[in-house]
Amino acid sequence: MNTAAAALDAAQVWAWLGEVPDPEIPVISVVDLGIVRAVDVLSSDECVVTITPTYSGCPAMQVIADAVTDALRSHGVAKVTLVNQLAPAWTTDWMSEIGKAKLKGYGIAPPQQQVIDISGLRGGAGAGVKRHAIPKLDVICPNCGSSHTQLTSQFGSTPCKALYKCLDCREPFDYFKCH
Ligand SMILES: [Zn+2]
Repeated sequence: MNTAAAALDAAQVWAWLGEVPDPEIPVISVVDLGIVRAVDVLSSDECVVTITPTYSGCPAMQVIADAVTDALRSHGVAKVTLVNQLAPAWTTDWMSEIGKAKLKGYGIAPPQQQVIDISGLRGGAGAGVKRHAIPKLDVICPNCGSSHTQLTSQFGSTPCKALYKCLDCREPFDYFKCH
């Protein structure tokens, strides 16, 4: 019945993976999180999924691996091979804009790109002068949008997050750390 078997296509597998929630933050999927790097369909019931952990030793990774395998099996993909790809390392830049928006809606400040502030630096010696960039990071409160926030603890509800407190609305919140 080969002719009757629906061909498995990678786009369909991506769509199914888009329904697999992150175990720690169930409002975003493993695809939104950016940890699914590649899908290779080998046959109508076999595929290889390449995953990059959010950071080495993240305890959620085994849970995620099992969830991905279970989800695809429930859609008839009998043979699922997971490949852990450690390099290049996962970065919060891989998180989709939708994922970041959902994170914020969930009350977790999404990872922010570091703003390189070179204002106030003047290259006085002309061309070729070295500029020293100063990394600046403002964590925005997901409740009221204030940037008037303070780090309370390097570790929030999970090691992937830091605990912050908003100095304006006084709400504590988790911040998804940049990697
Ligand atoms: Zn606030």
